[in-house]
Amino acid sequence: MNILLVGAGLSGAVIGRKLAEAGHKCRIIDSRDHVGGNCHTERDPETNVMLHVYGPHIFHTDDQEVWDYVNSFAEFMPYRNRVKTTAQGKVFSLPINLHTINQFFDKTFRPDEAKAFIEEQGDAGIEDPKSFEEQALRFVGPDLYEAFFRGYTEKQWGCSPTELPASILKRLPVRFNYDDNYFFHKYQGMPRDGYTAMIEAILDHPGITVELGTPYNSDMADKFDHVFWSGPLDGYFEYEHGRLGYRTLDFKRFNYEGDYQGCAVMNYGDRDVPYTRVTEHKHFSPWEEHEGSVCYEEYSRAAGPDDIPYYPIRLVDEQAMLNMYIEKAEGISGVTFVGRLGTYRYLDMDVTIREALDAARYFLGCVTEGKPTAAFVPS
Ligand SMILES: Cc1cc2nc3c(=O)[nH]c(=O)nc-3n(C[C@H](O)[C@H](O)[C@H](O)COP(=O)(O)OP(=O)(O)OC[C@H]3O[C@@H](n4cnc5c(N)ncnc54)[C@H](O)[C@@H]3O)c2cc1C
Repeated sequence: MNILLVGAGLSGAVIGRKLAEAGHKCRIIDSRDHVGGNCHTERDPETNVMLHVYGPHIFHTDDQEVWDYVNSFAEFMPYRNRVKTTAQGKVFSLPINLHTINQFFDKTFRPDEAKAFIEEQGDAGIEDPKSFEEQALRFVGPDLYEAFFRGYTEKQWGCSPTELPASILKRLPVRFNYDDNYFFHKYQGMPRDGYTAMIEAILDHPGITVELGTPYNSDMADKFDHVFWSGPLDGYFEYEHGRLGYRTLDFKRFNYEGDYQGCAVMNYGDRDVPYTRVTEHKHFSPWEEHEGSVCYEEYSRAAGPDDIPYYPIRLVDEQAMLNMYIEKAEGISGVTFVGRLGTYRYLDMDVTIREALDAARYFLGCVTEGKPTAAFVPS
């Protein structure tokens, strides 16, 4: 079959590869001038530092098949995500752990003591927390909430934590030991030559052609037997019911000679600092040595029509609009909606790959059995 895949990010690349390996002809288009989607990395010509162009990306997973998959296309280097935060004039370790608690409250607690202390801080009167704020006050109390959650969340989401659902915050976002590894997953790492090189390797198959700088237009679909759409779901329908809400990010780049902050990611919890974090890219490749350094201050705001959509805002209004688009998508045939934009969900890279592998298998199964395909891959 002739397949068109819109988007040369992880979703399009992984699905295209599987279908090409099964003998189908895949044409992958992307409106950008590079492959890799939002995972795109490139070497800075000035410093030779590997830049995470659309924000920091750390690979982490428990999924053995996905880990084996990425390792078959790239060499992964060990990498542990250790994040710091500057708040109220001091630097603390994140996620909140025993070190953070002892430093913040000027104590020398052991784990059990810290646990009892934090329980005392929490507002036990909030029995059924509804908002993010209530959830935080219930579990960590006002001081930690103010320093680590309130300002950061306001900047990130552009609204008060009282307007966000409690589900955004895990039940107890605190560790009572000194583990400052940001992720719990069994496998973590960073591709030695960046994500774009990995995705180029995935795309390197005789059954795949890639066309960059090529936005989709509806005349294209007629020439293909099937379309996989990893662009925005509302964009496919030309925003007929309005635009699904997204947060976008602005990166303000600056250079530094030497080591600017000593770590890859420094959050800023205070409300009067306008950016949410600073990333210093050379620390994402600790096996490399660079004198010069490139940093991005990261600002978050509501996405306008010409902005890159980053984080979906899935609040009540968006949910109603999303349902309308889902209904429209389910009413057409010959198109499968995939990936973070096509399904309007935040997806980590490992989940994106897992879903892409499943989407390809589902499609190939339908072809073999002569069955029609659904607009969204059944889970
Ligand atoms: C700031 C940020 C940080 C992240 N950090 C991490 C992390 O640390 N670890 C992790 O696991 N995950 C992280 N992620 C998630 C990761 O970026 C996604 O899992 C991944 O990018 C999803 O791939 P995708 O192919 O579905 O979408 P995308 O990467 O968005 O690719 C979609 C592609 O479609 C193209 N496209 C859209 N519309 C059209 C059109 N009409 N015509 C042609 N082309 C079109 C776009 O140009 C884009 O290249 C992060 C995400 C963000 C926003």
